[in-house]
Amino acid sequence: MKTRIDAAGNLVGRYEGLTPDAPALLIGSHIDSVRDGGRYDGMLGVLMGVELVAHYAAQGRRFPFALEVIGFGDEEGSRFPAAMLTSRAVAGLLKEAPADMQDPAGITLHDALAEDGLALERMPEAARKPDEILAYLEAHIEQGPVLEAENRAVGVVTAIAAQYRFHVRMKGVAGHAGTMPMSLRQDALTAAAEAVLAIEKIGQSGPSDLVATVGQLTVVPGVPNVVPGEVVFSIDVRAGDAAVRNAATVEIRTALEALAARRKVTLEISLQQDLPATPCDAALTDMLSEAAQAVTGTVPRRMVSGAGHDAMILAALAPVCMLFIRCEGGISHNPAEAVDPSDVEQAFQVMTRFIEDFAGRRP
Ligand SMILES: [Zn+2]
Repeated sequence: MKTRIDAAGNLVGRYEGLTPDAPALLIGSHIDSVRDGGRYDGMLGVLMGVELVAHYAAQGRRFPFALEVIGFGDEEGSRFPAAMLTSRAVAGLLKEAPADMQDPAGITLHDALAEDGLALERMPEAARKPDEILAYLEAHIEQGPVLEAENRAVGVVTAIAAQYRFHVRMKGVAGHAGTMPMSLRQDALTAAAEAVLAIEKIGQSGPSDLVATVGQLTVVPGVPNVVPGEVVFSIDVRAGDAAVRNAATVEIRTALEALAARRKVTLEISLQQDLPATPCDAALTDMLSEAAQAVTGTVPRRMVSGAGHDAMILAALAPVCMLFIRCEGGISHNPAEAVDPSDVEQAFQVMTRFIEDFAGRRP
């Protein structure tokens, strides 16, 4: 492959088709991870793309389209308060440079990019033209327990769940832990604690694909002898159906407003991310299902992905499809993440079959 790093910091490899500059079948996933994450989330899908190209290069086989492998640079949003920035750039959704932002250490996105020779204001130049990309195929670990429970190596994704991410700031009054009587406190942390439990309860009250999570919480000033004056935390709400997600979000907001008023703390909720439910392309998903059936000998499980993926962003650029690979215990975002190599081999076979069918069916 000819490789390059695009203007958004994505690593891209291109294996030419039968004719130079042919449009590409894009294969990939992300190469960033969460803090203390595992080895397979994202990276496995990128390496499978590399292996597919190696497989065809070894045979000297080329297609009427190019194969491009992409490793997206920011899917998780672990460092900066935004996620999927780099796939958004590729999909052409960054019409202008994103607003500069800071990581928890105070380093700006501008400076972090500059360290790698990239410029914040040039990120939108990573945009691909729709006629350059025929389709996007992403293989990813399931990150859930369904395939394992059903004893399946792979599954086919039909849609990716709608997702909201909020940033919440609760402000009370900081005070001396020794002298401020309990009755007079406006403790932002106890208010936030109540909020966390309310969010959990609302998440539990909906259909099984509704999930609500507080995963990040910062206490200010965060010292043992001061009543916390301010707490900042995240809320993540997802469901296969946007209406379910939206209704849960309204409930959360109402619950938080009520408890903030009762506890005399101020409440600011800002929306960080609103990702609609993304259906995978029906025709490509059928092709992927047929390939999976041919390889595994059974009709594959079709499933909604509760996790967000670059595929949902790429859907704005090209038709997308996704293959899930069983992971041990459904565990992800954890160093214990594991896959069975024979499952990965089956996924690889499914992908080769898909690529060859894709070539065969194109006029
Ligand atoms: Zn991932």
